[in-house]
Amino acid sequence: MATARGAAGRRALLVAAACLLWPPRAAPRARGLARRGHAGPEDSCVYLGLPRHRSNPRVNAILERAEKRFNQLRLEGNLLLGQPKTTGTKVGLEDRIYANTYVDLGVAEVVGFDYDYTLVRYKHTMLDLIYNVSCALLMSKFGYPEEMAAELTRRGYDPQFAIRGVAVDLETAWVCCLTARYRVSVAYYGRQRVSEDQVRLSYKSRMGAGRVGQEERRARLKPLNDWFGKVEACLLADVVQWLKDRDIPFEPKSVLSDVIDAVVSAHVSKAIHRQVEKNWSHYAEPGELRPLLEKLEAAGKKLMLVSNSPYWYVNSGMSHAVGDDWKKLFDVVVVDAGKPKFYTDDRPFREVSQNTGRKKFKKITSIDRDEVYCEGCIGELMRLTGWGTTLEDGYVDGSKIIYLGDSLFADLVEARRLFGWTTGAIIPEVAEEANAQSTSDMQLAWHSLQLILHCLRGCQEPRRLGP
Ligand SMILES: [Mg+2]
Repeated sequence: MATARGAAGRRALLVAAACLLWPPRAAPRARGLARRGHAGPEDSCVYLGLPRHRSNPRVNAILERAEKRFNQLRLEGNLLLGQPKTTGTKVGLEDRIYANTYVDLGVAEVVGFDYDYTLVRYKHTMLDLIYNVSCALLMSKFGYPEEMAAELTRRGYDPQFAIRGVAVDLETAWVCCLTARYRVSVAYYGRQRVSEDQVRLSYKSRMGAGRVGQEERRARLKPLNDWFGKVEACLLADVVQWLKDRDIPFEPKSVLSDVIDAVVSAHVSKAIHRQVEKNWSHYAEPGELRPLLEKLEAAGKKLMLVSNSPYWYVNSGMSHAVGDDWKKLFDVVVVDAGKPKFYTDDRPFREVSQNTGRKKFKKITSIDRDEVYCEGCIGELMRLTGWGTTLEDGYVDGSKIIYLGDSLFADLVEARRLFGWTTGAIIPEVAEEANAQSTSDMQLAWHSLQLILHCLRGCQEPRRLGP
């Protein structure tokens, strides 16, 4: 399962490789790579010259061969990489399903969905709304200056500032980007970048790779993995910068705490939900949800919806996206599920009145597909529906249940750990990453990097890898 942090790390590596291998002509010499040109027309295809060993002809043979292969790859790469690898209907990179284990959709008996950012995909206007509502709460609930709220609201949310997967430092209120190896590569205090020296001196691991240990990460760095984490990062930086610009003394920990509370309050108070409900088209992407659900139903799959949102909001959005009769497509509908507690706690289900939204107090002994439930837990769901296979040791195998959600921790981790559900993450950033990786420049960079690494290994271990 890809993560924004991992993807960013890989892309950083690939981009770094591209920068190294495709500088202007004069750059290789400046980097210590002695360019070995050939006379005549072939000169145009020489992009890399590797240094030679002073006395070892075996190593020099490897270097020469790698150099030749690289230049050949660079010359012919666009033609070679441009060839389609598969036949049949072409599926866009953003419409493909990517797997990190074997998944047979044909044997799945149940397909479950989260609601927000899964069945409903929001536009960027949603993040603008969260930002503005949170700004207003900072003023009304936490006493921040009115002029600050007005100025930040006027400037608005900046989608370019942070990606999902950044972290905030709970001690300094820095917004940090960690590499795949847990090194703080970039940090911002307000909207200003923190110097590398300052970053290095701020964490225990000041030497070597600078990897921040697990204990220190848990104590100091709060990851922002959800969609609204992007708003938290941007709002925190904007508030800190506003205070810094005016020399207003403040405690970074307190500002961080207030910003996070404001964003959480914006959700818990349902202020955002009420705005969205008034104008779904403005905040949600139009999708072809109904054909997808009908296709799954026609294939004999049972459908389930488990959402943390209240029934009135789910009903409103699904009626907009699928139609007023959307509930007929689902076998189980659970709202106000309180994930991840839905997975970890032992709670009974409660029935929700579809007219008033009131939670009923009668005991639930079976799941009726015409009803809507709230709270509950995964163990009770498996028991009441009879889904899954009970093994000899009493363990219930739920691997034929596929559940899709956007939050790694709220939706996916515990469902897989406790009952073996097959889980899938909705990560729109993967499409962006896949598109970037599919470009010929990126593929050439990747192949070239592998070639050079192979060359290095060959030079270091000539006897094992051959001459
Ligand atoms: Mg969600």
